[in-house]
Amino acid sequence: MNDEESLRGLPAVHELLDVIREQRPESLPSFTKKACRHVLDEERKRIRSGKSPRKRKALDEAVISRLDAIELHSMERVINATGVVLHTAIGRACLPPPASEAVSRTAEGYCVLQWNRETGRRGHRDEHIEDLLIELTGAEAATVVNNNAGATFLILSALCRGREVVVSRGQLVEIGGAFRIPEVMKQSGAVMREVGCTNRTHLRDYEEAICEETAALLRVHPSNYRIRGFTGEVSLEALVDLGNRTGLPVIDDLGAGSLVDLNHFGLPTEPTVSHSIEVGASLTTSSGDKLIGGPQAGIITGKKELVEKIKRHPLARALRVGKLTLSGLQSTLRLFLEDPEYLIEHHPVYSMLGADSDELEERRKTLLSDLELPPDCEAQPIETDSYVGSGSLPDTPIPSLGVGITAPDVDELARLLRLGAPAVASRVEEGMLKLDVRTVFSEQIPELARLVSLVAGGLWG
Ligand SMILES: *Cc1c(COP(=O)(O)O)cnc(C)c1O
Repeated sequence: MNDEESLRGLPAVHELLDVIREQRPESLPSFTKKACRHVLDEERKRIRSGKSPRKRKALDEAVISRLDAIELHSMERVINATGVVLHTAIGRACLPPPASEAVSRTAEGYCVLQWNRETGRRGHRDEHIEDLLIELTGAEAATVVNNNAGATFLILSALCRGREVVVSRGQLVEIGGAFRIPEVMKQSGAVMREVGCTNRTHLRDYEEAICEETAALLRVHPSNYRIRGFTGEVSLEALVDLGNRTGLPVIDDLGAGSLVDLNHFGLPTEPTVSHSIEVGASLTTSSGDKLIGGPQAGIITGKKELVEKIKRHPLARALRVGKLTLSGLQSTLRLFLEDPEYLIEHHPVYSMLGADSDELEERRKTLLSDLELPPDCEAQPIETDSYVGSGSLPDTPIPSLGVGITAPDVDELARLLRLGAPAVASRVEEGMLKLDVRTVFSEQIPELARLVSLVAGGLWG
């Protein structure tokens, strides 16, 4: 058979389609058609390059596997065995169950998003969380935007455009990606007035920088880095006092902005939003999906007059959150009305941070006994370090337990685990694949054991 005959012998798209539709009736028609076209195009290329045509059955199989690839949910579920609780690459916080239920309930239908039911007129969507945030932080007012980067940008745009904002050189942080304080400041139209040095900034540095052009004093939480040694920075108390003396607002970008003292979970204290408000910050900003453990959001709290001005700025509309975020955030925030013990039981972020060694040991035991590894691989109990993640407490390792796996090629094992469904996120250290059980939910342990056994067995079994 020459190439022309082989090409003519190929099935028509509709012939392939008929078979595939029968085998995969649940697939979207457009996906099925796309997969058929793709396989036929490939086959034509193969034939033109002199390869012999494949059997009809092989073509059908190729279409099915192509369809699988097209349909695979690109936001694949991940089992987090890294021990990093708030891992930005895999979506930061796991929502508490009441929050995810609220999100799906709100998602499926209509809801009272910004509707004054008394008058039938339009209301304001902030009403759903403002009172709650006021209660939790002691602030006069609050609003919510897309994320903390957006919150900072909005505040600088609304209150400081064309004027100077004084900030310490020790706090010009890059959070990751394109979020760098100097750049955000520039984009907002505010003029950055940096003072002090990288390691030390004094109150007089701020005092000397204040002039007619000054719009605000900004403090930024260093989040993902620490300055050690001969250091010094000005406390929020002193900044607030200076702000009061000069009539300038103090903006406190808290980053993770906890709502509860992390001491309750055996961790060092991180600044809380209510502490900043109590000390007298005019505005605070924090992330919804860091230590609050809710959906991605930027939370602004502070003086009523300033928050109102921010809400009225045109950018507020561009940065506003939708009904899914609001319902998830509302349910998450409600948990913080209870005491820390309640959080450990009901909020996944705090269940992970607060997991005791008995619980970790239990998970590790199950994982070790469920693993079925080929002779070339070996699993052993290990001690390891978990981290909060997302720039919170970067130099505070949390002692944890896990399983270390040695194998002929641990990098390949880790890679195939990443590509699985669900994907497994692990750490490779000291020539071992490390599975930290702190961030793996108990009910995921058997699944994790199965996935690791399957991949290792496929490579070296
Ligand atoms: C994380 C962080 C941000 C950015 O918050 P997102 O919610 O990720 O946008 C801004 N400022 C500080 C100090 C942070 O730690």
